[in-house]
Amino acid sequence: MSKKWYPVINSETCIECGACIEKCSHGVYGKNVTQPAVINPDGCIDGCRGCQKLCPTESIDYVGDVGQESSCNCNCTCI
Ligand code: SF4
Ligand code: SF4
Repeated sequence: MSKKWYPVINSETCIECGACIEKCSHGVYGKNVTQPAVINPDGCIDGCRGCQKLCPTESIDYVGDVGQESSCNCNCTCI
């Protein structure tokens, strides 16, 4: 089954602040870079909007976004 929820970055509006990369503790973004790259979409928690909420330029959308809440039950504080 293919992954149905993961972030997509709008590179036109992203200012490469790194907030999303720093925020995610699920290994979705590549580290040690300033331009966010989704290298592990499978790691993204369905419904999590942790990085989106921090983005100062509203450059993060999600594949599969129909307004659902996070299904994450861990203590990562992404939400
Ligand atoms: S939505 Fe949550 S789990 Fe997915 S990349 Fe952003 S912070 Fe990580
Ligand atoms: S938080 Fe937003 S502006 Fe900052 S690097 Fe991520 S996508 Fe770009």
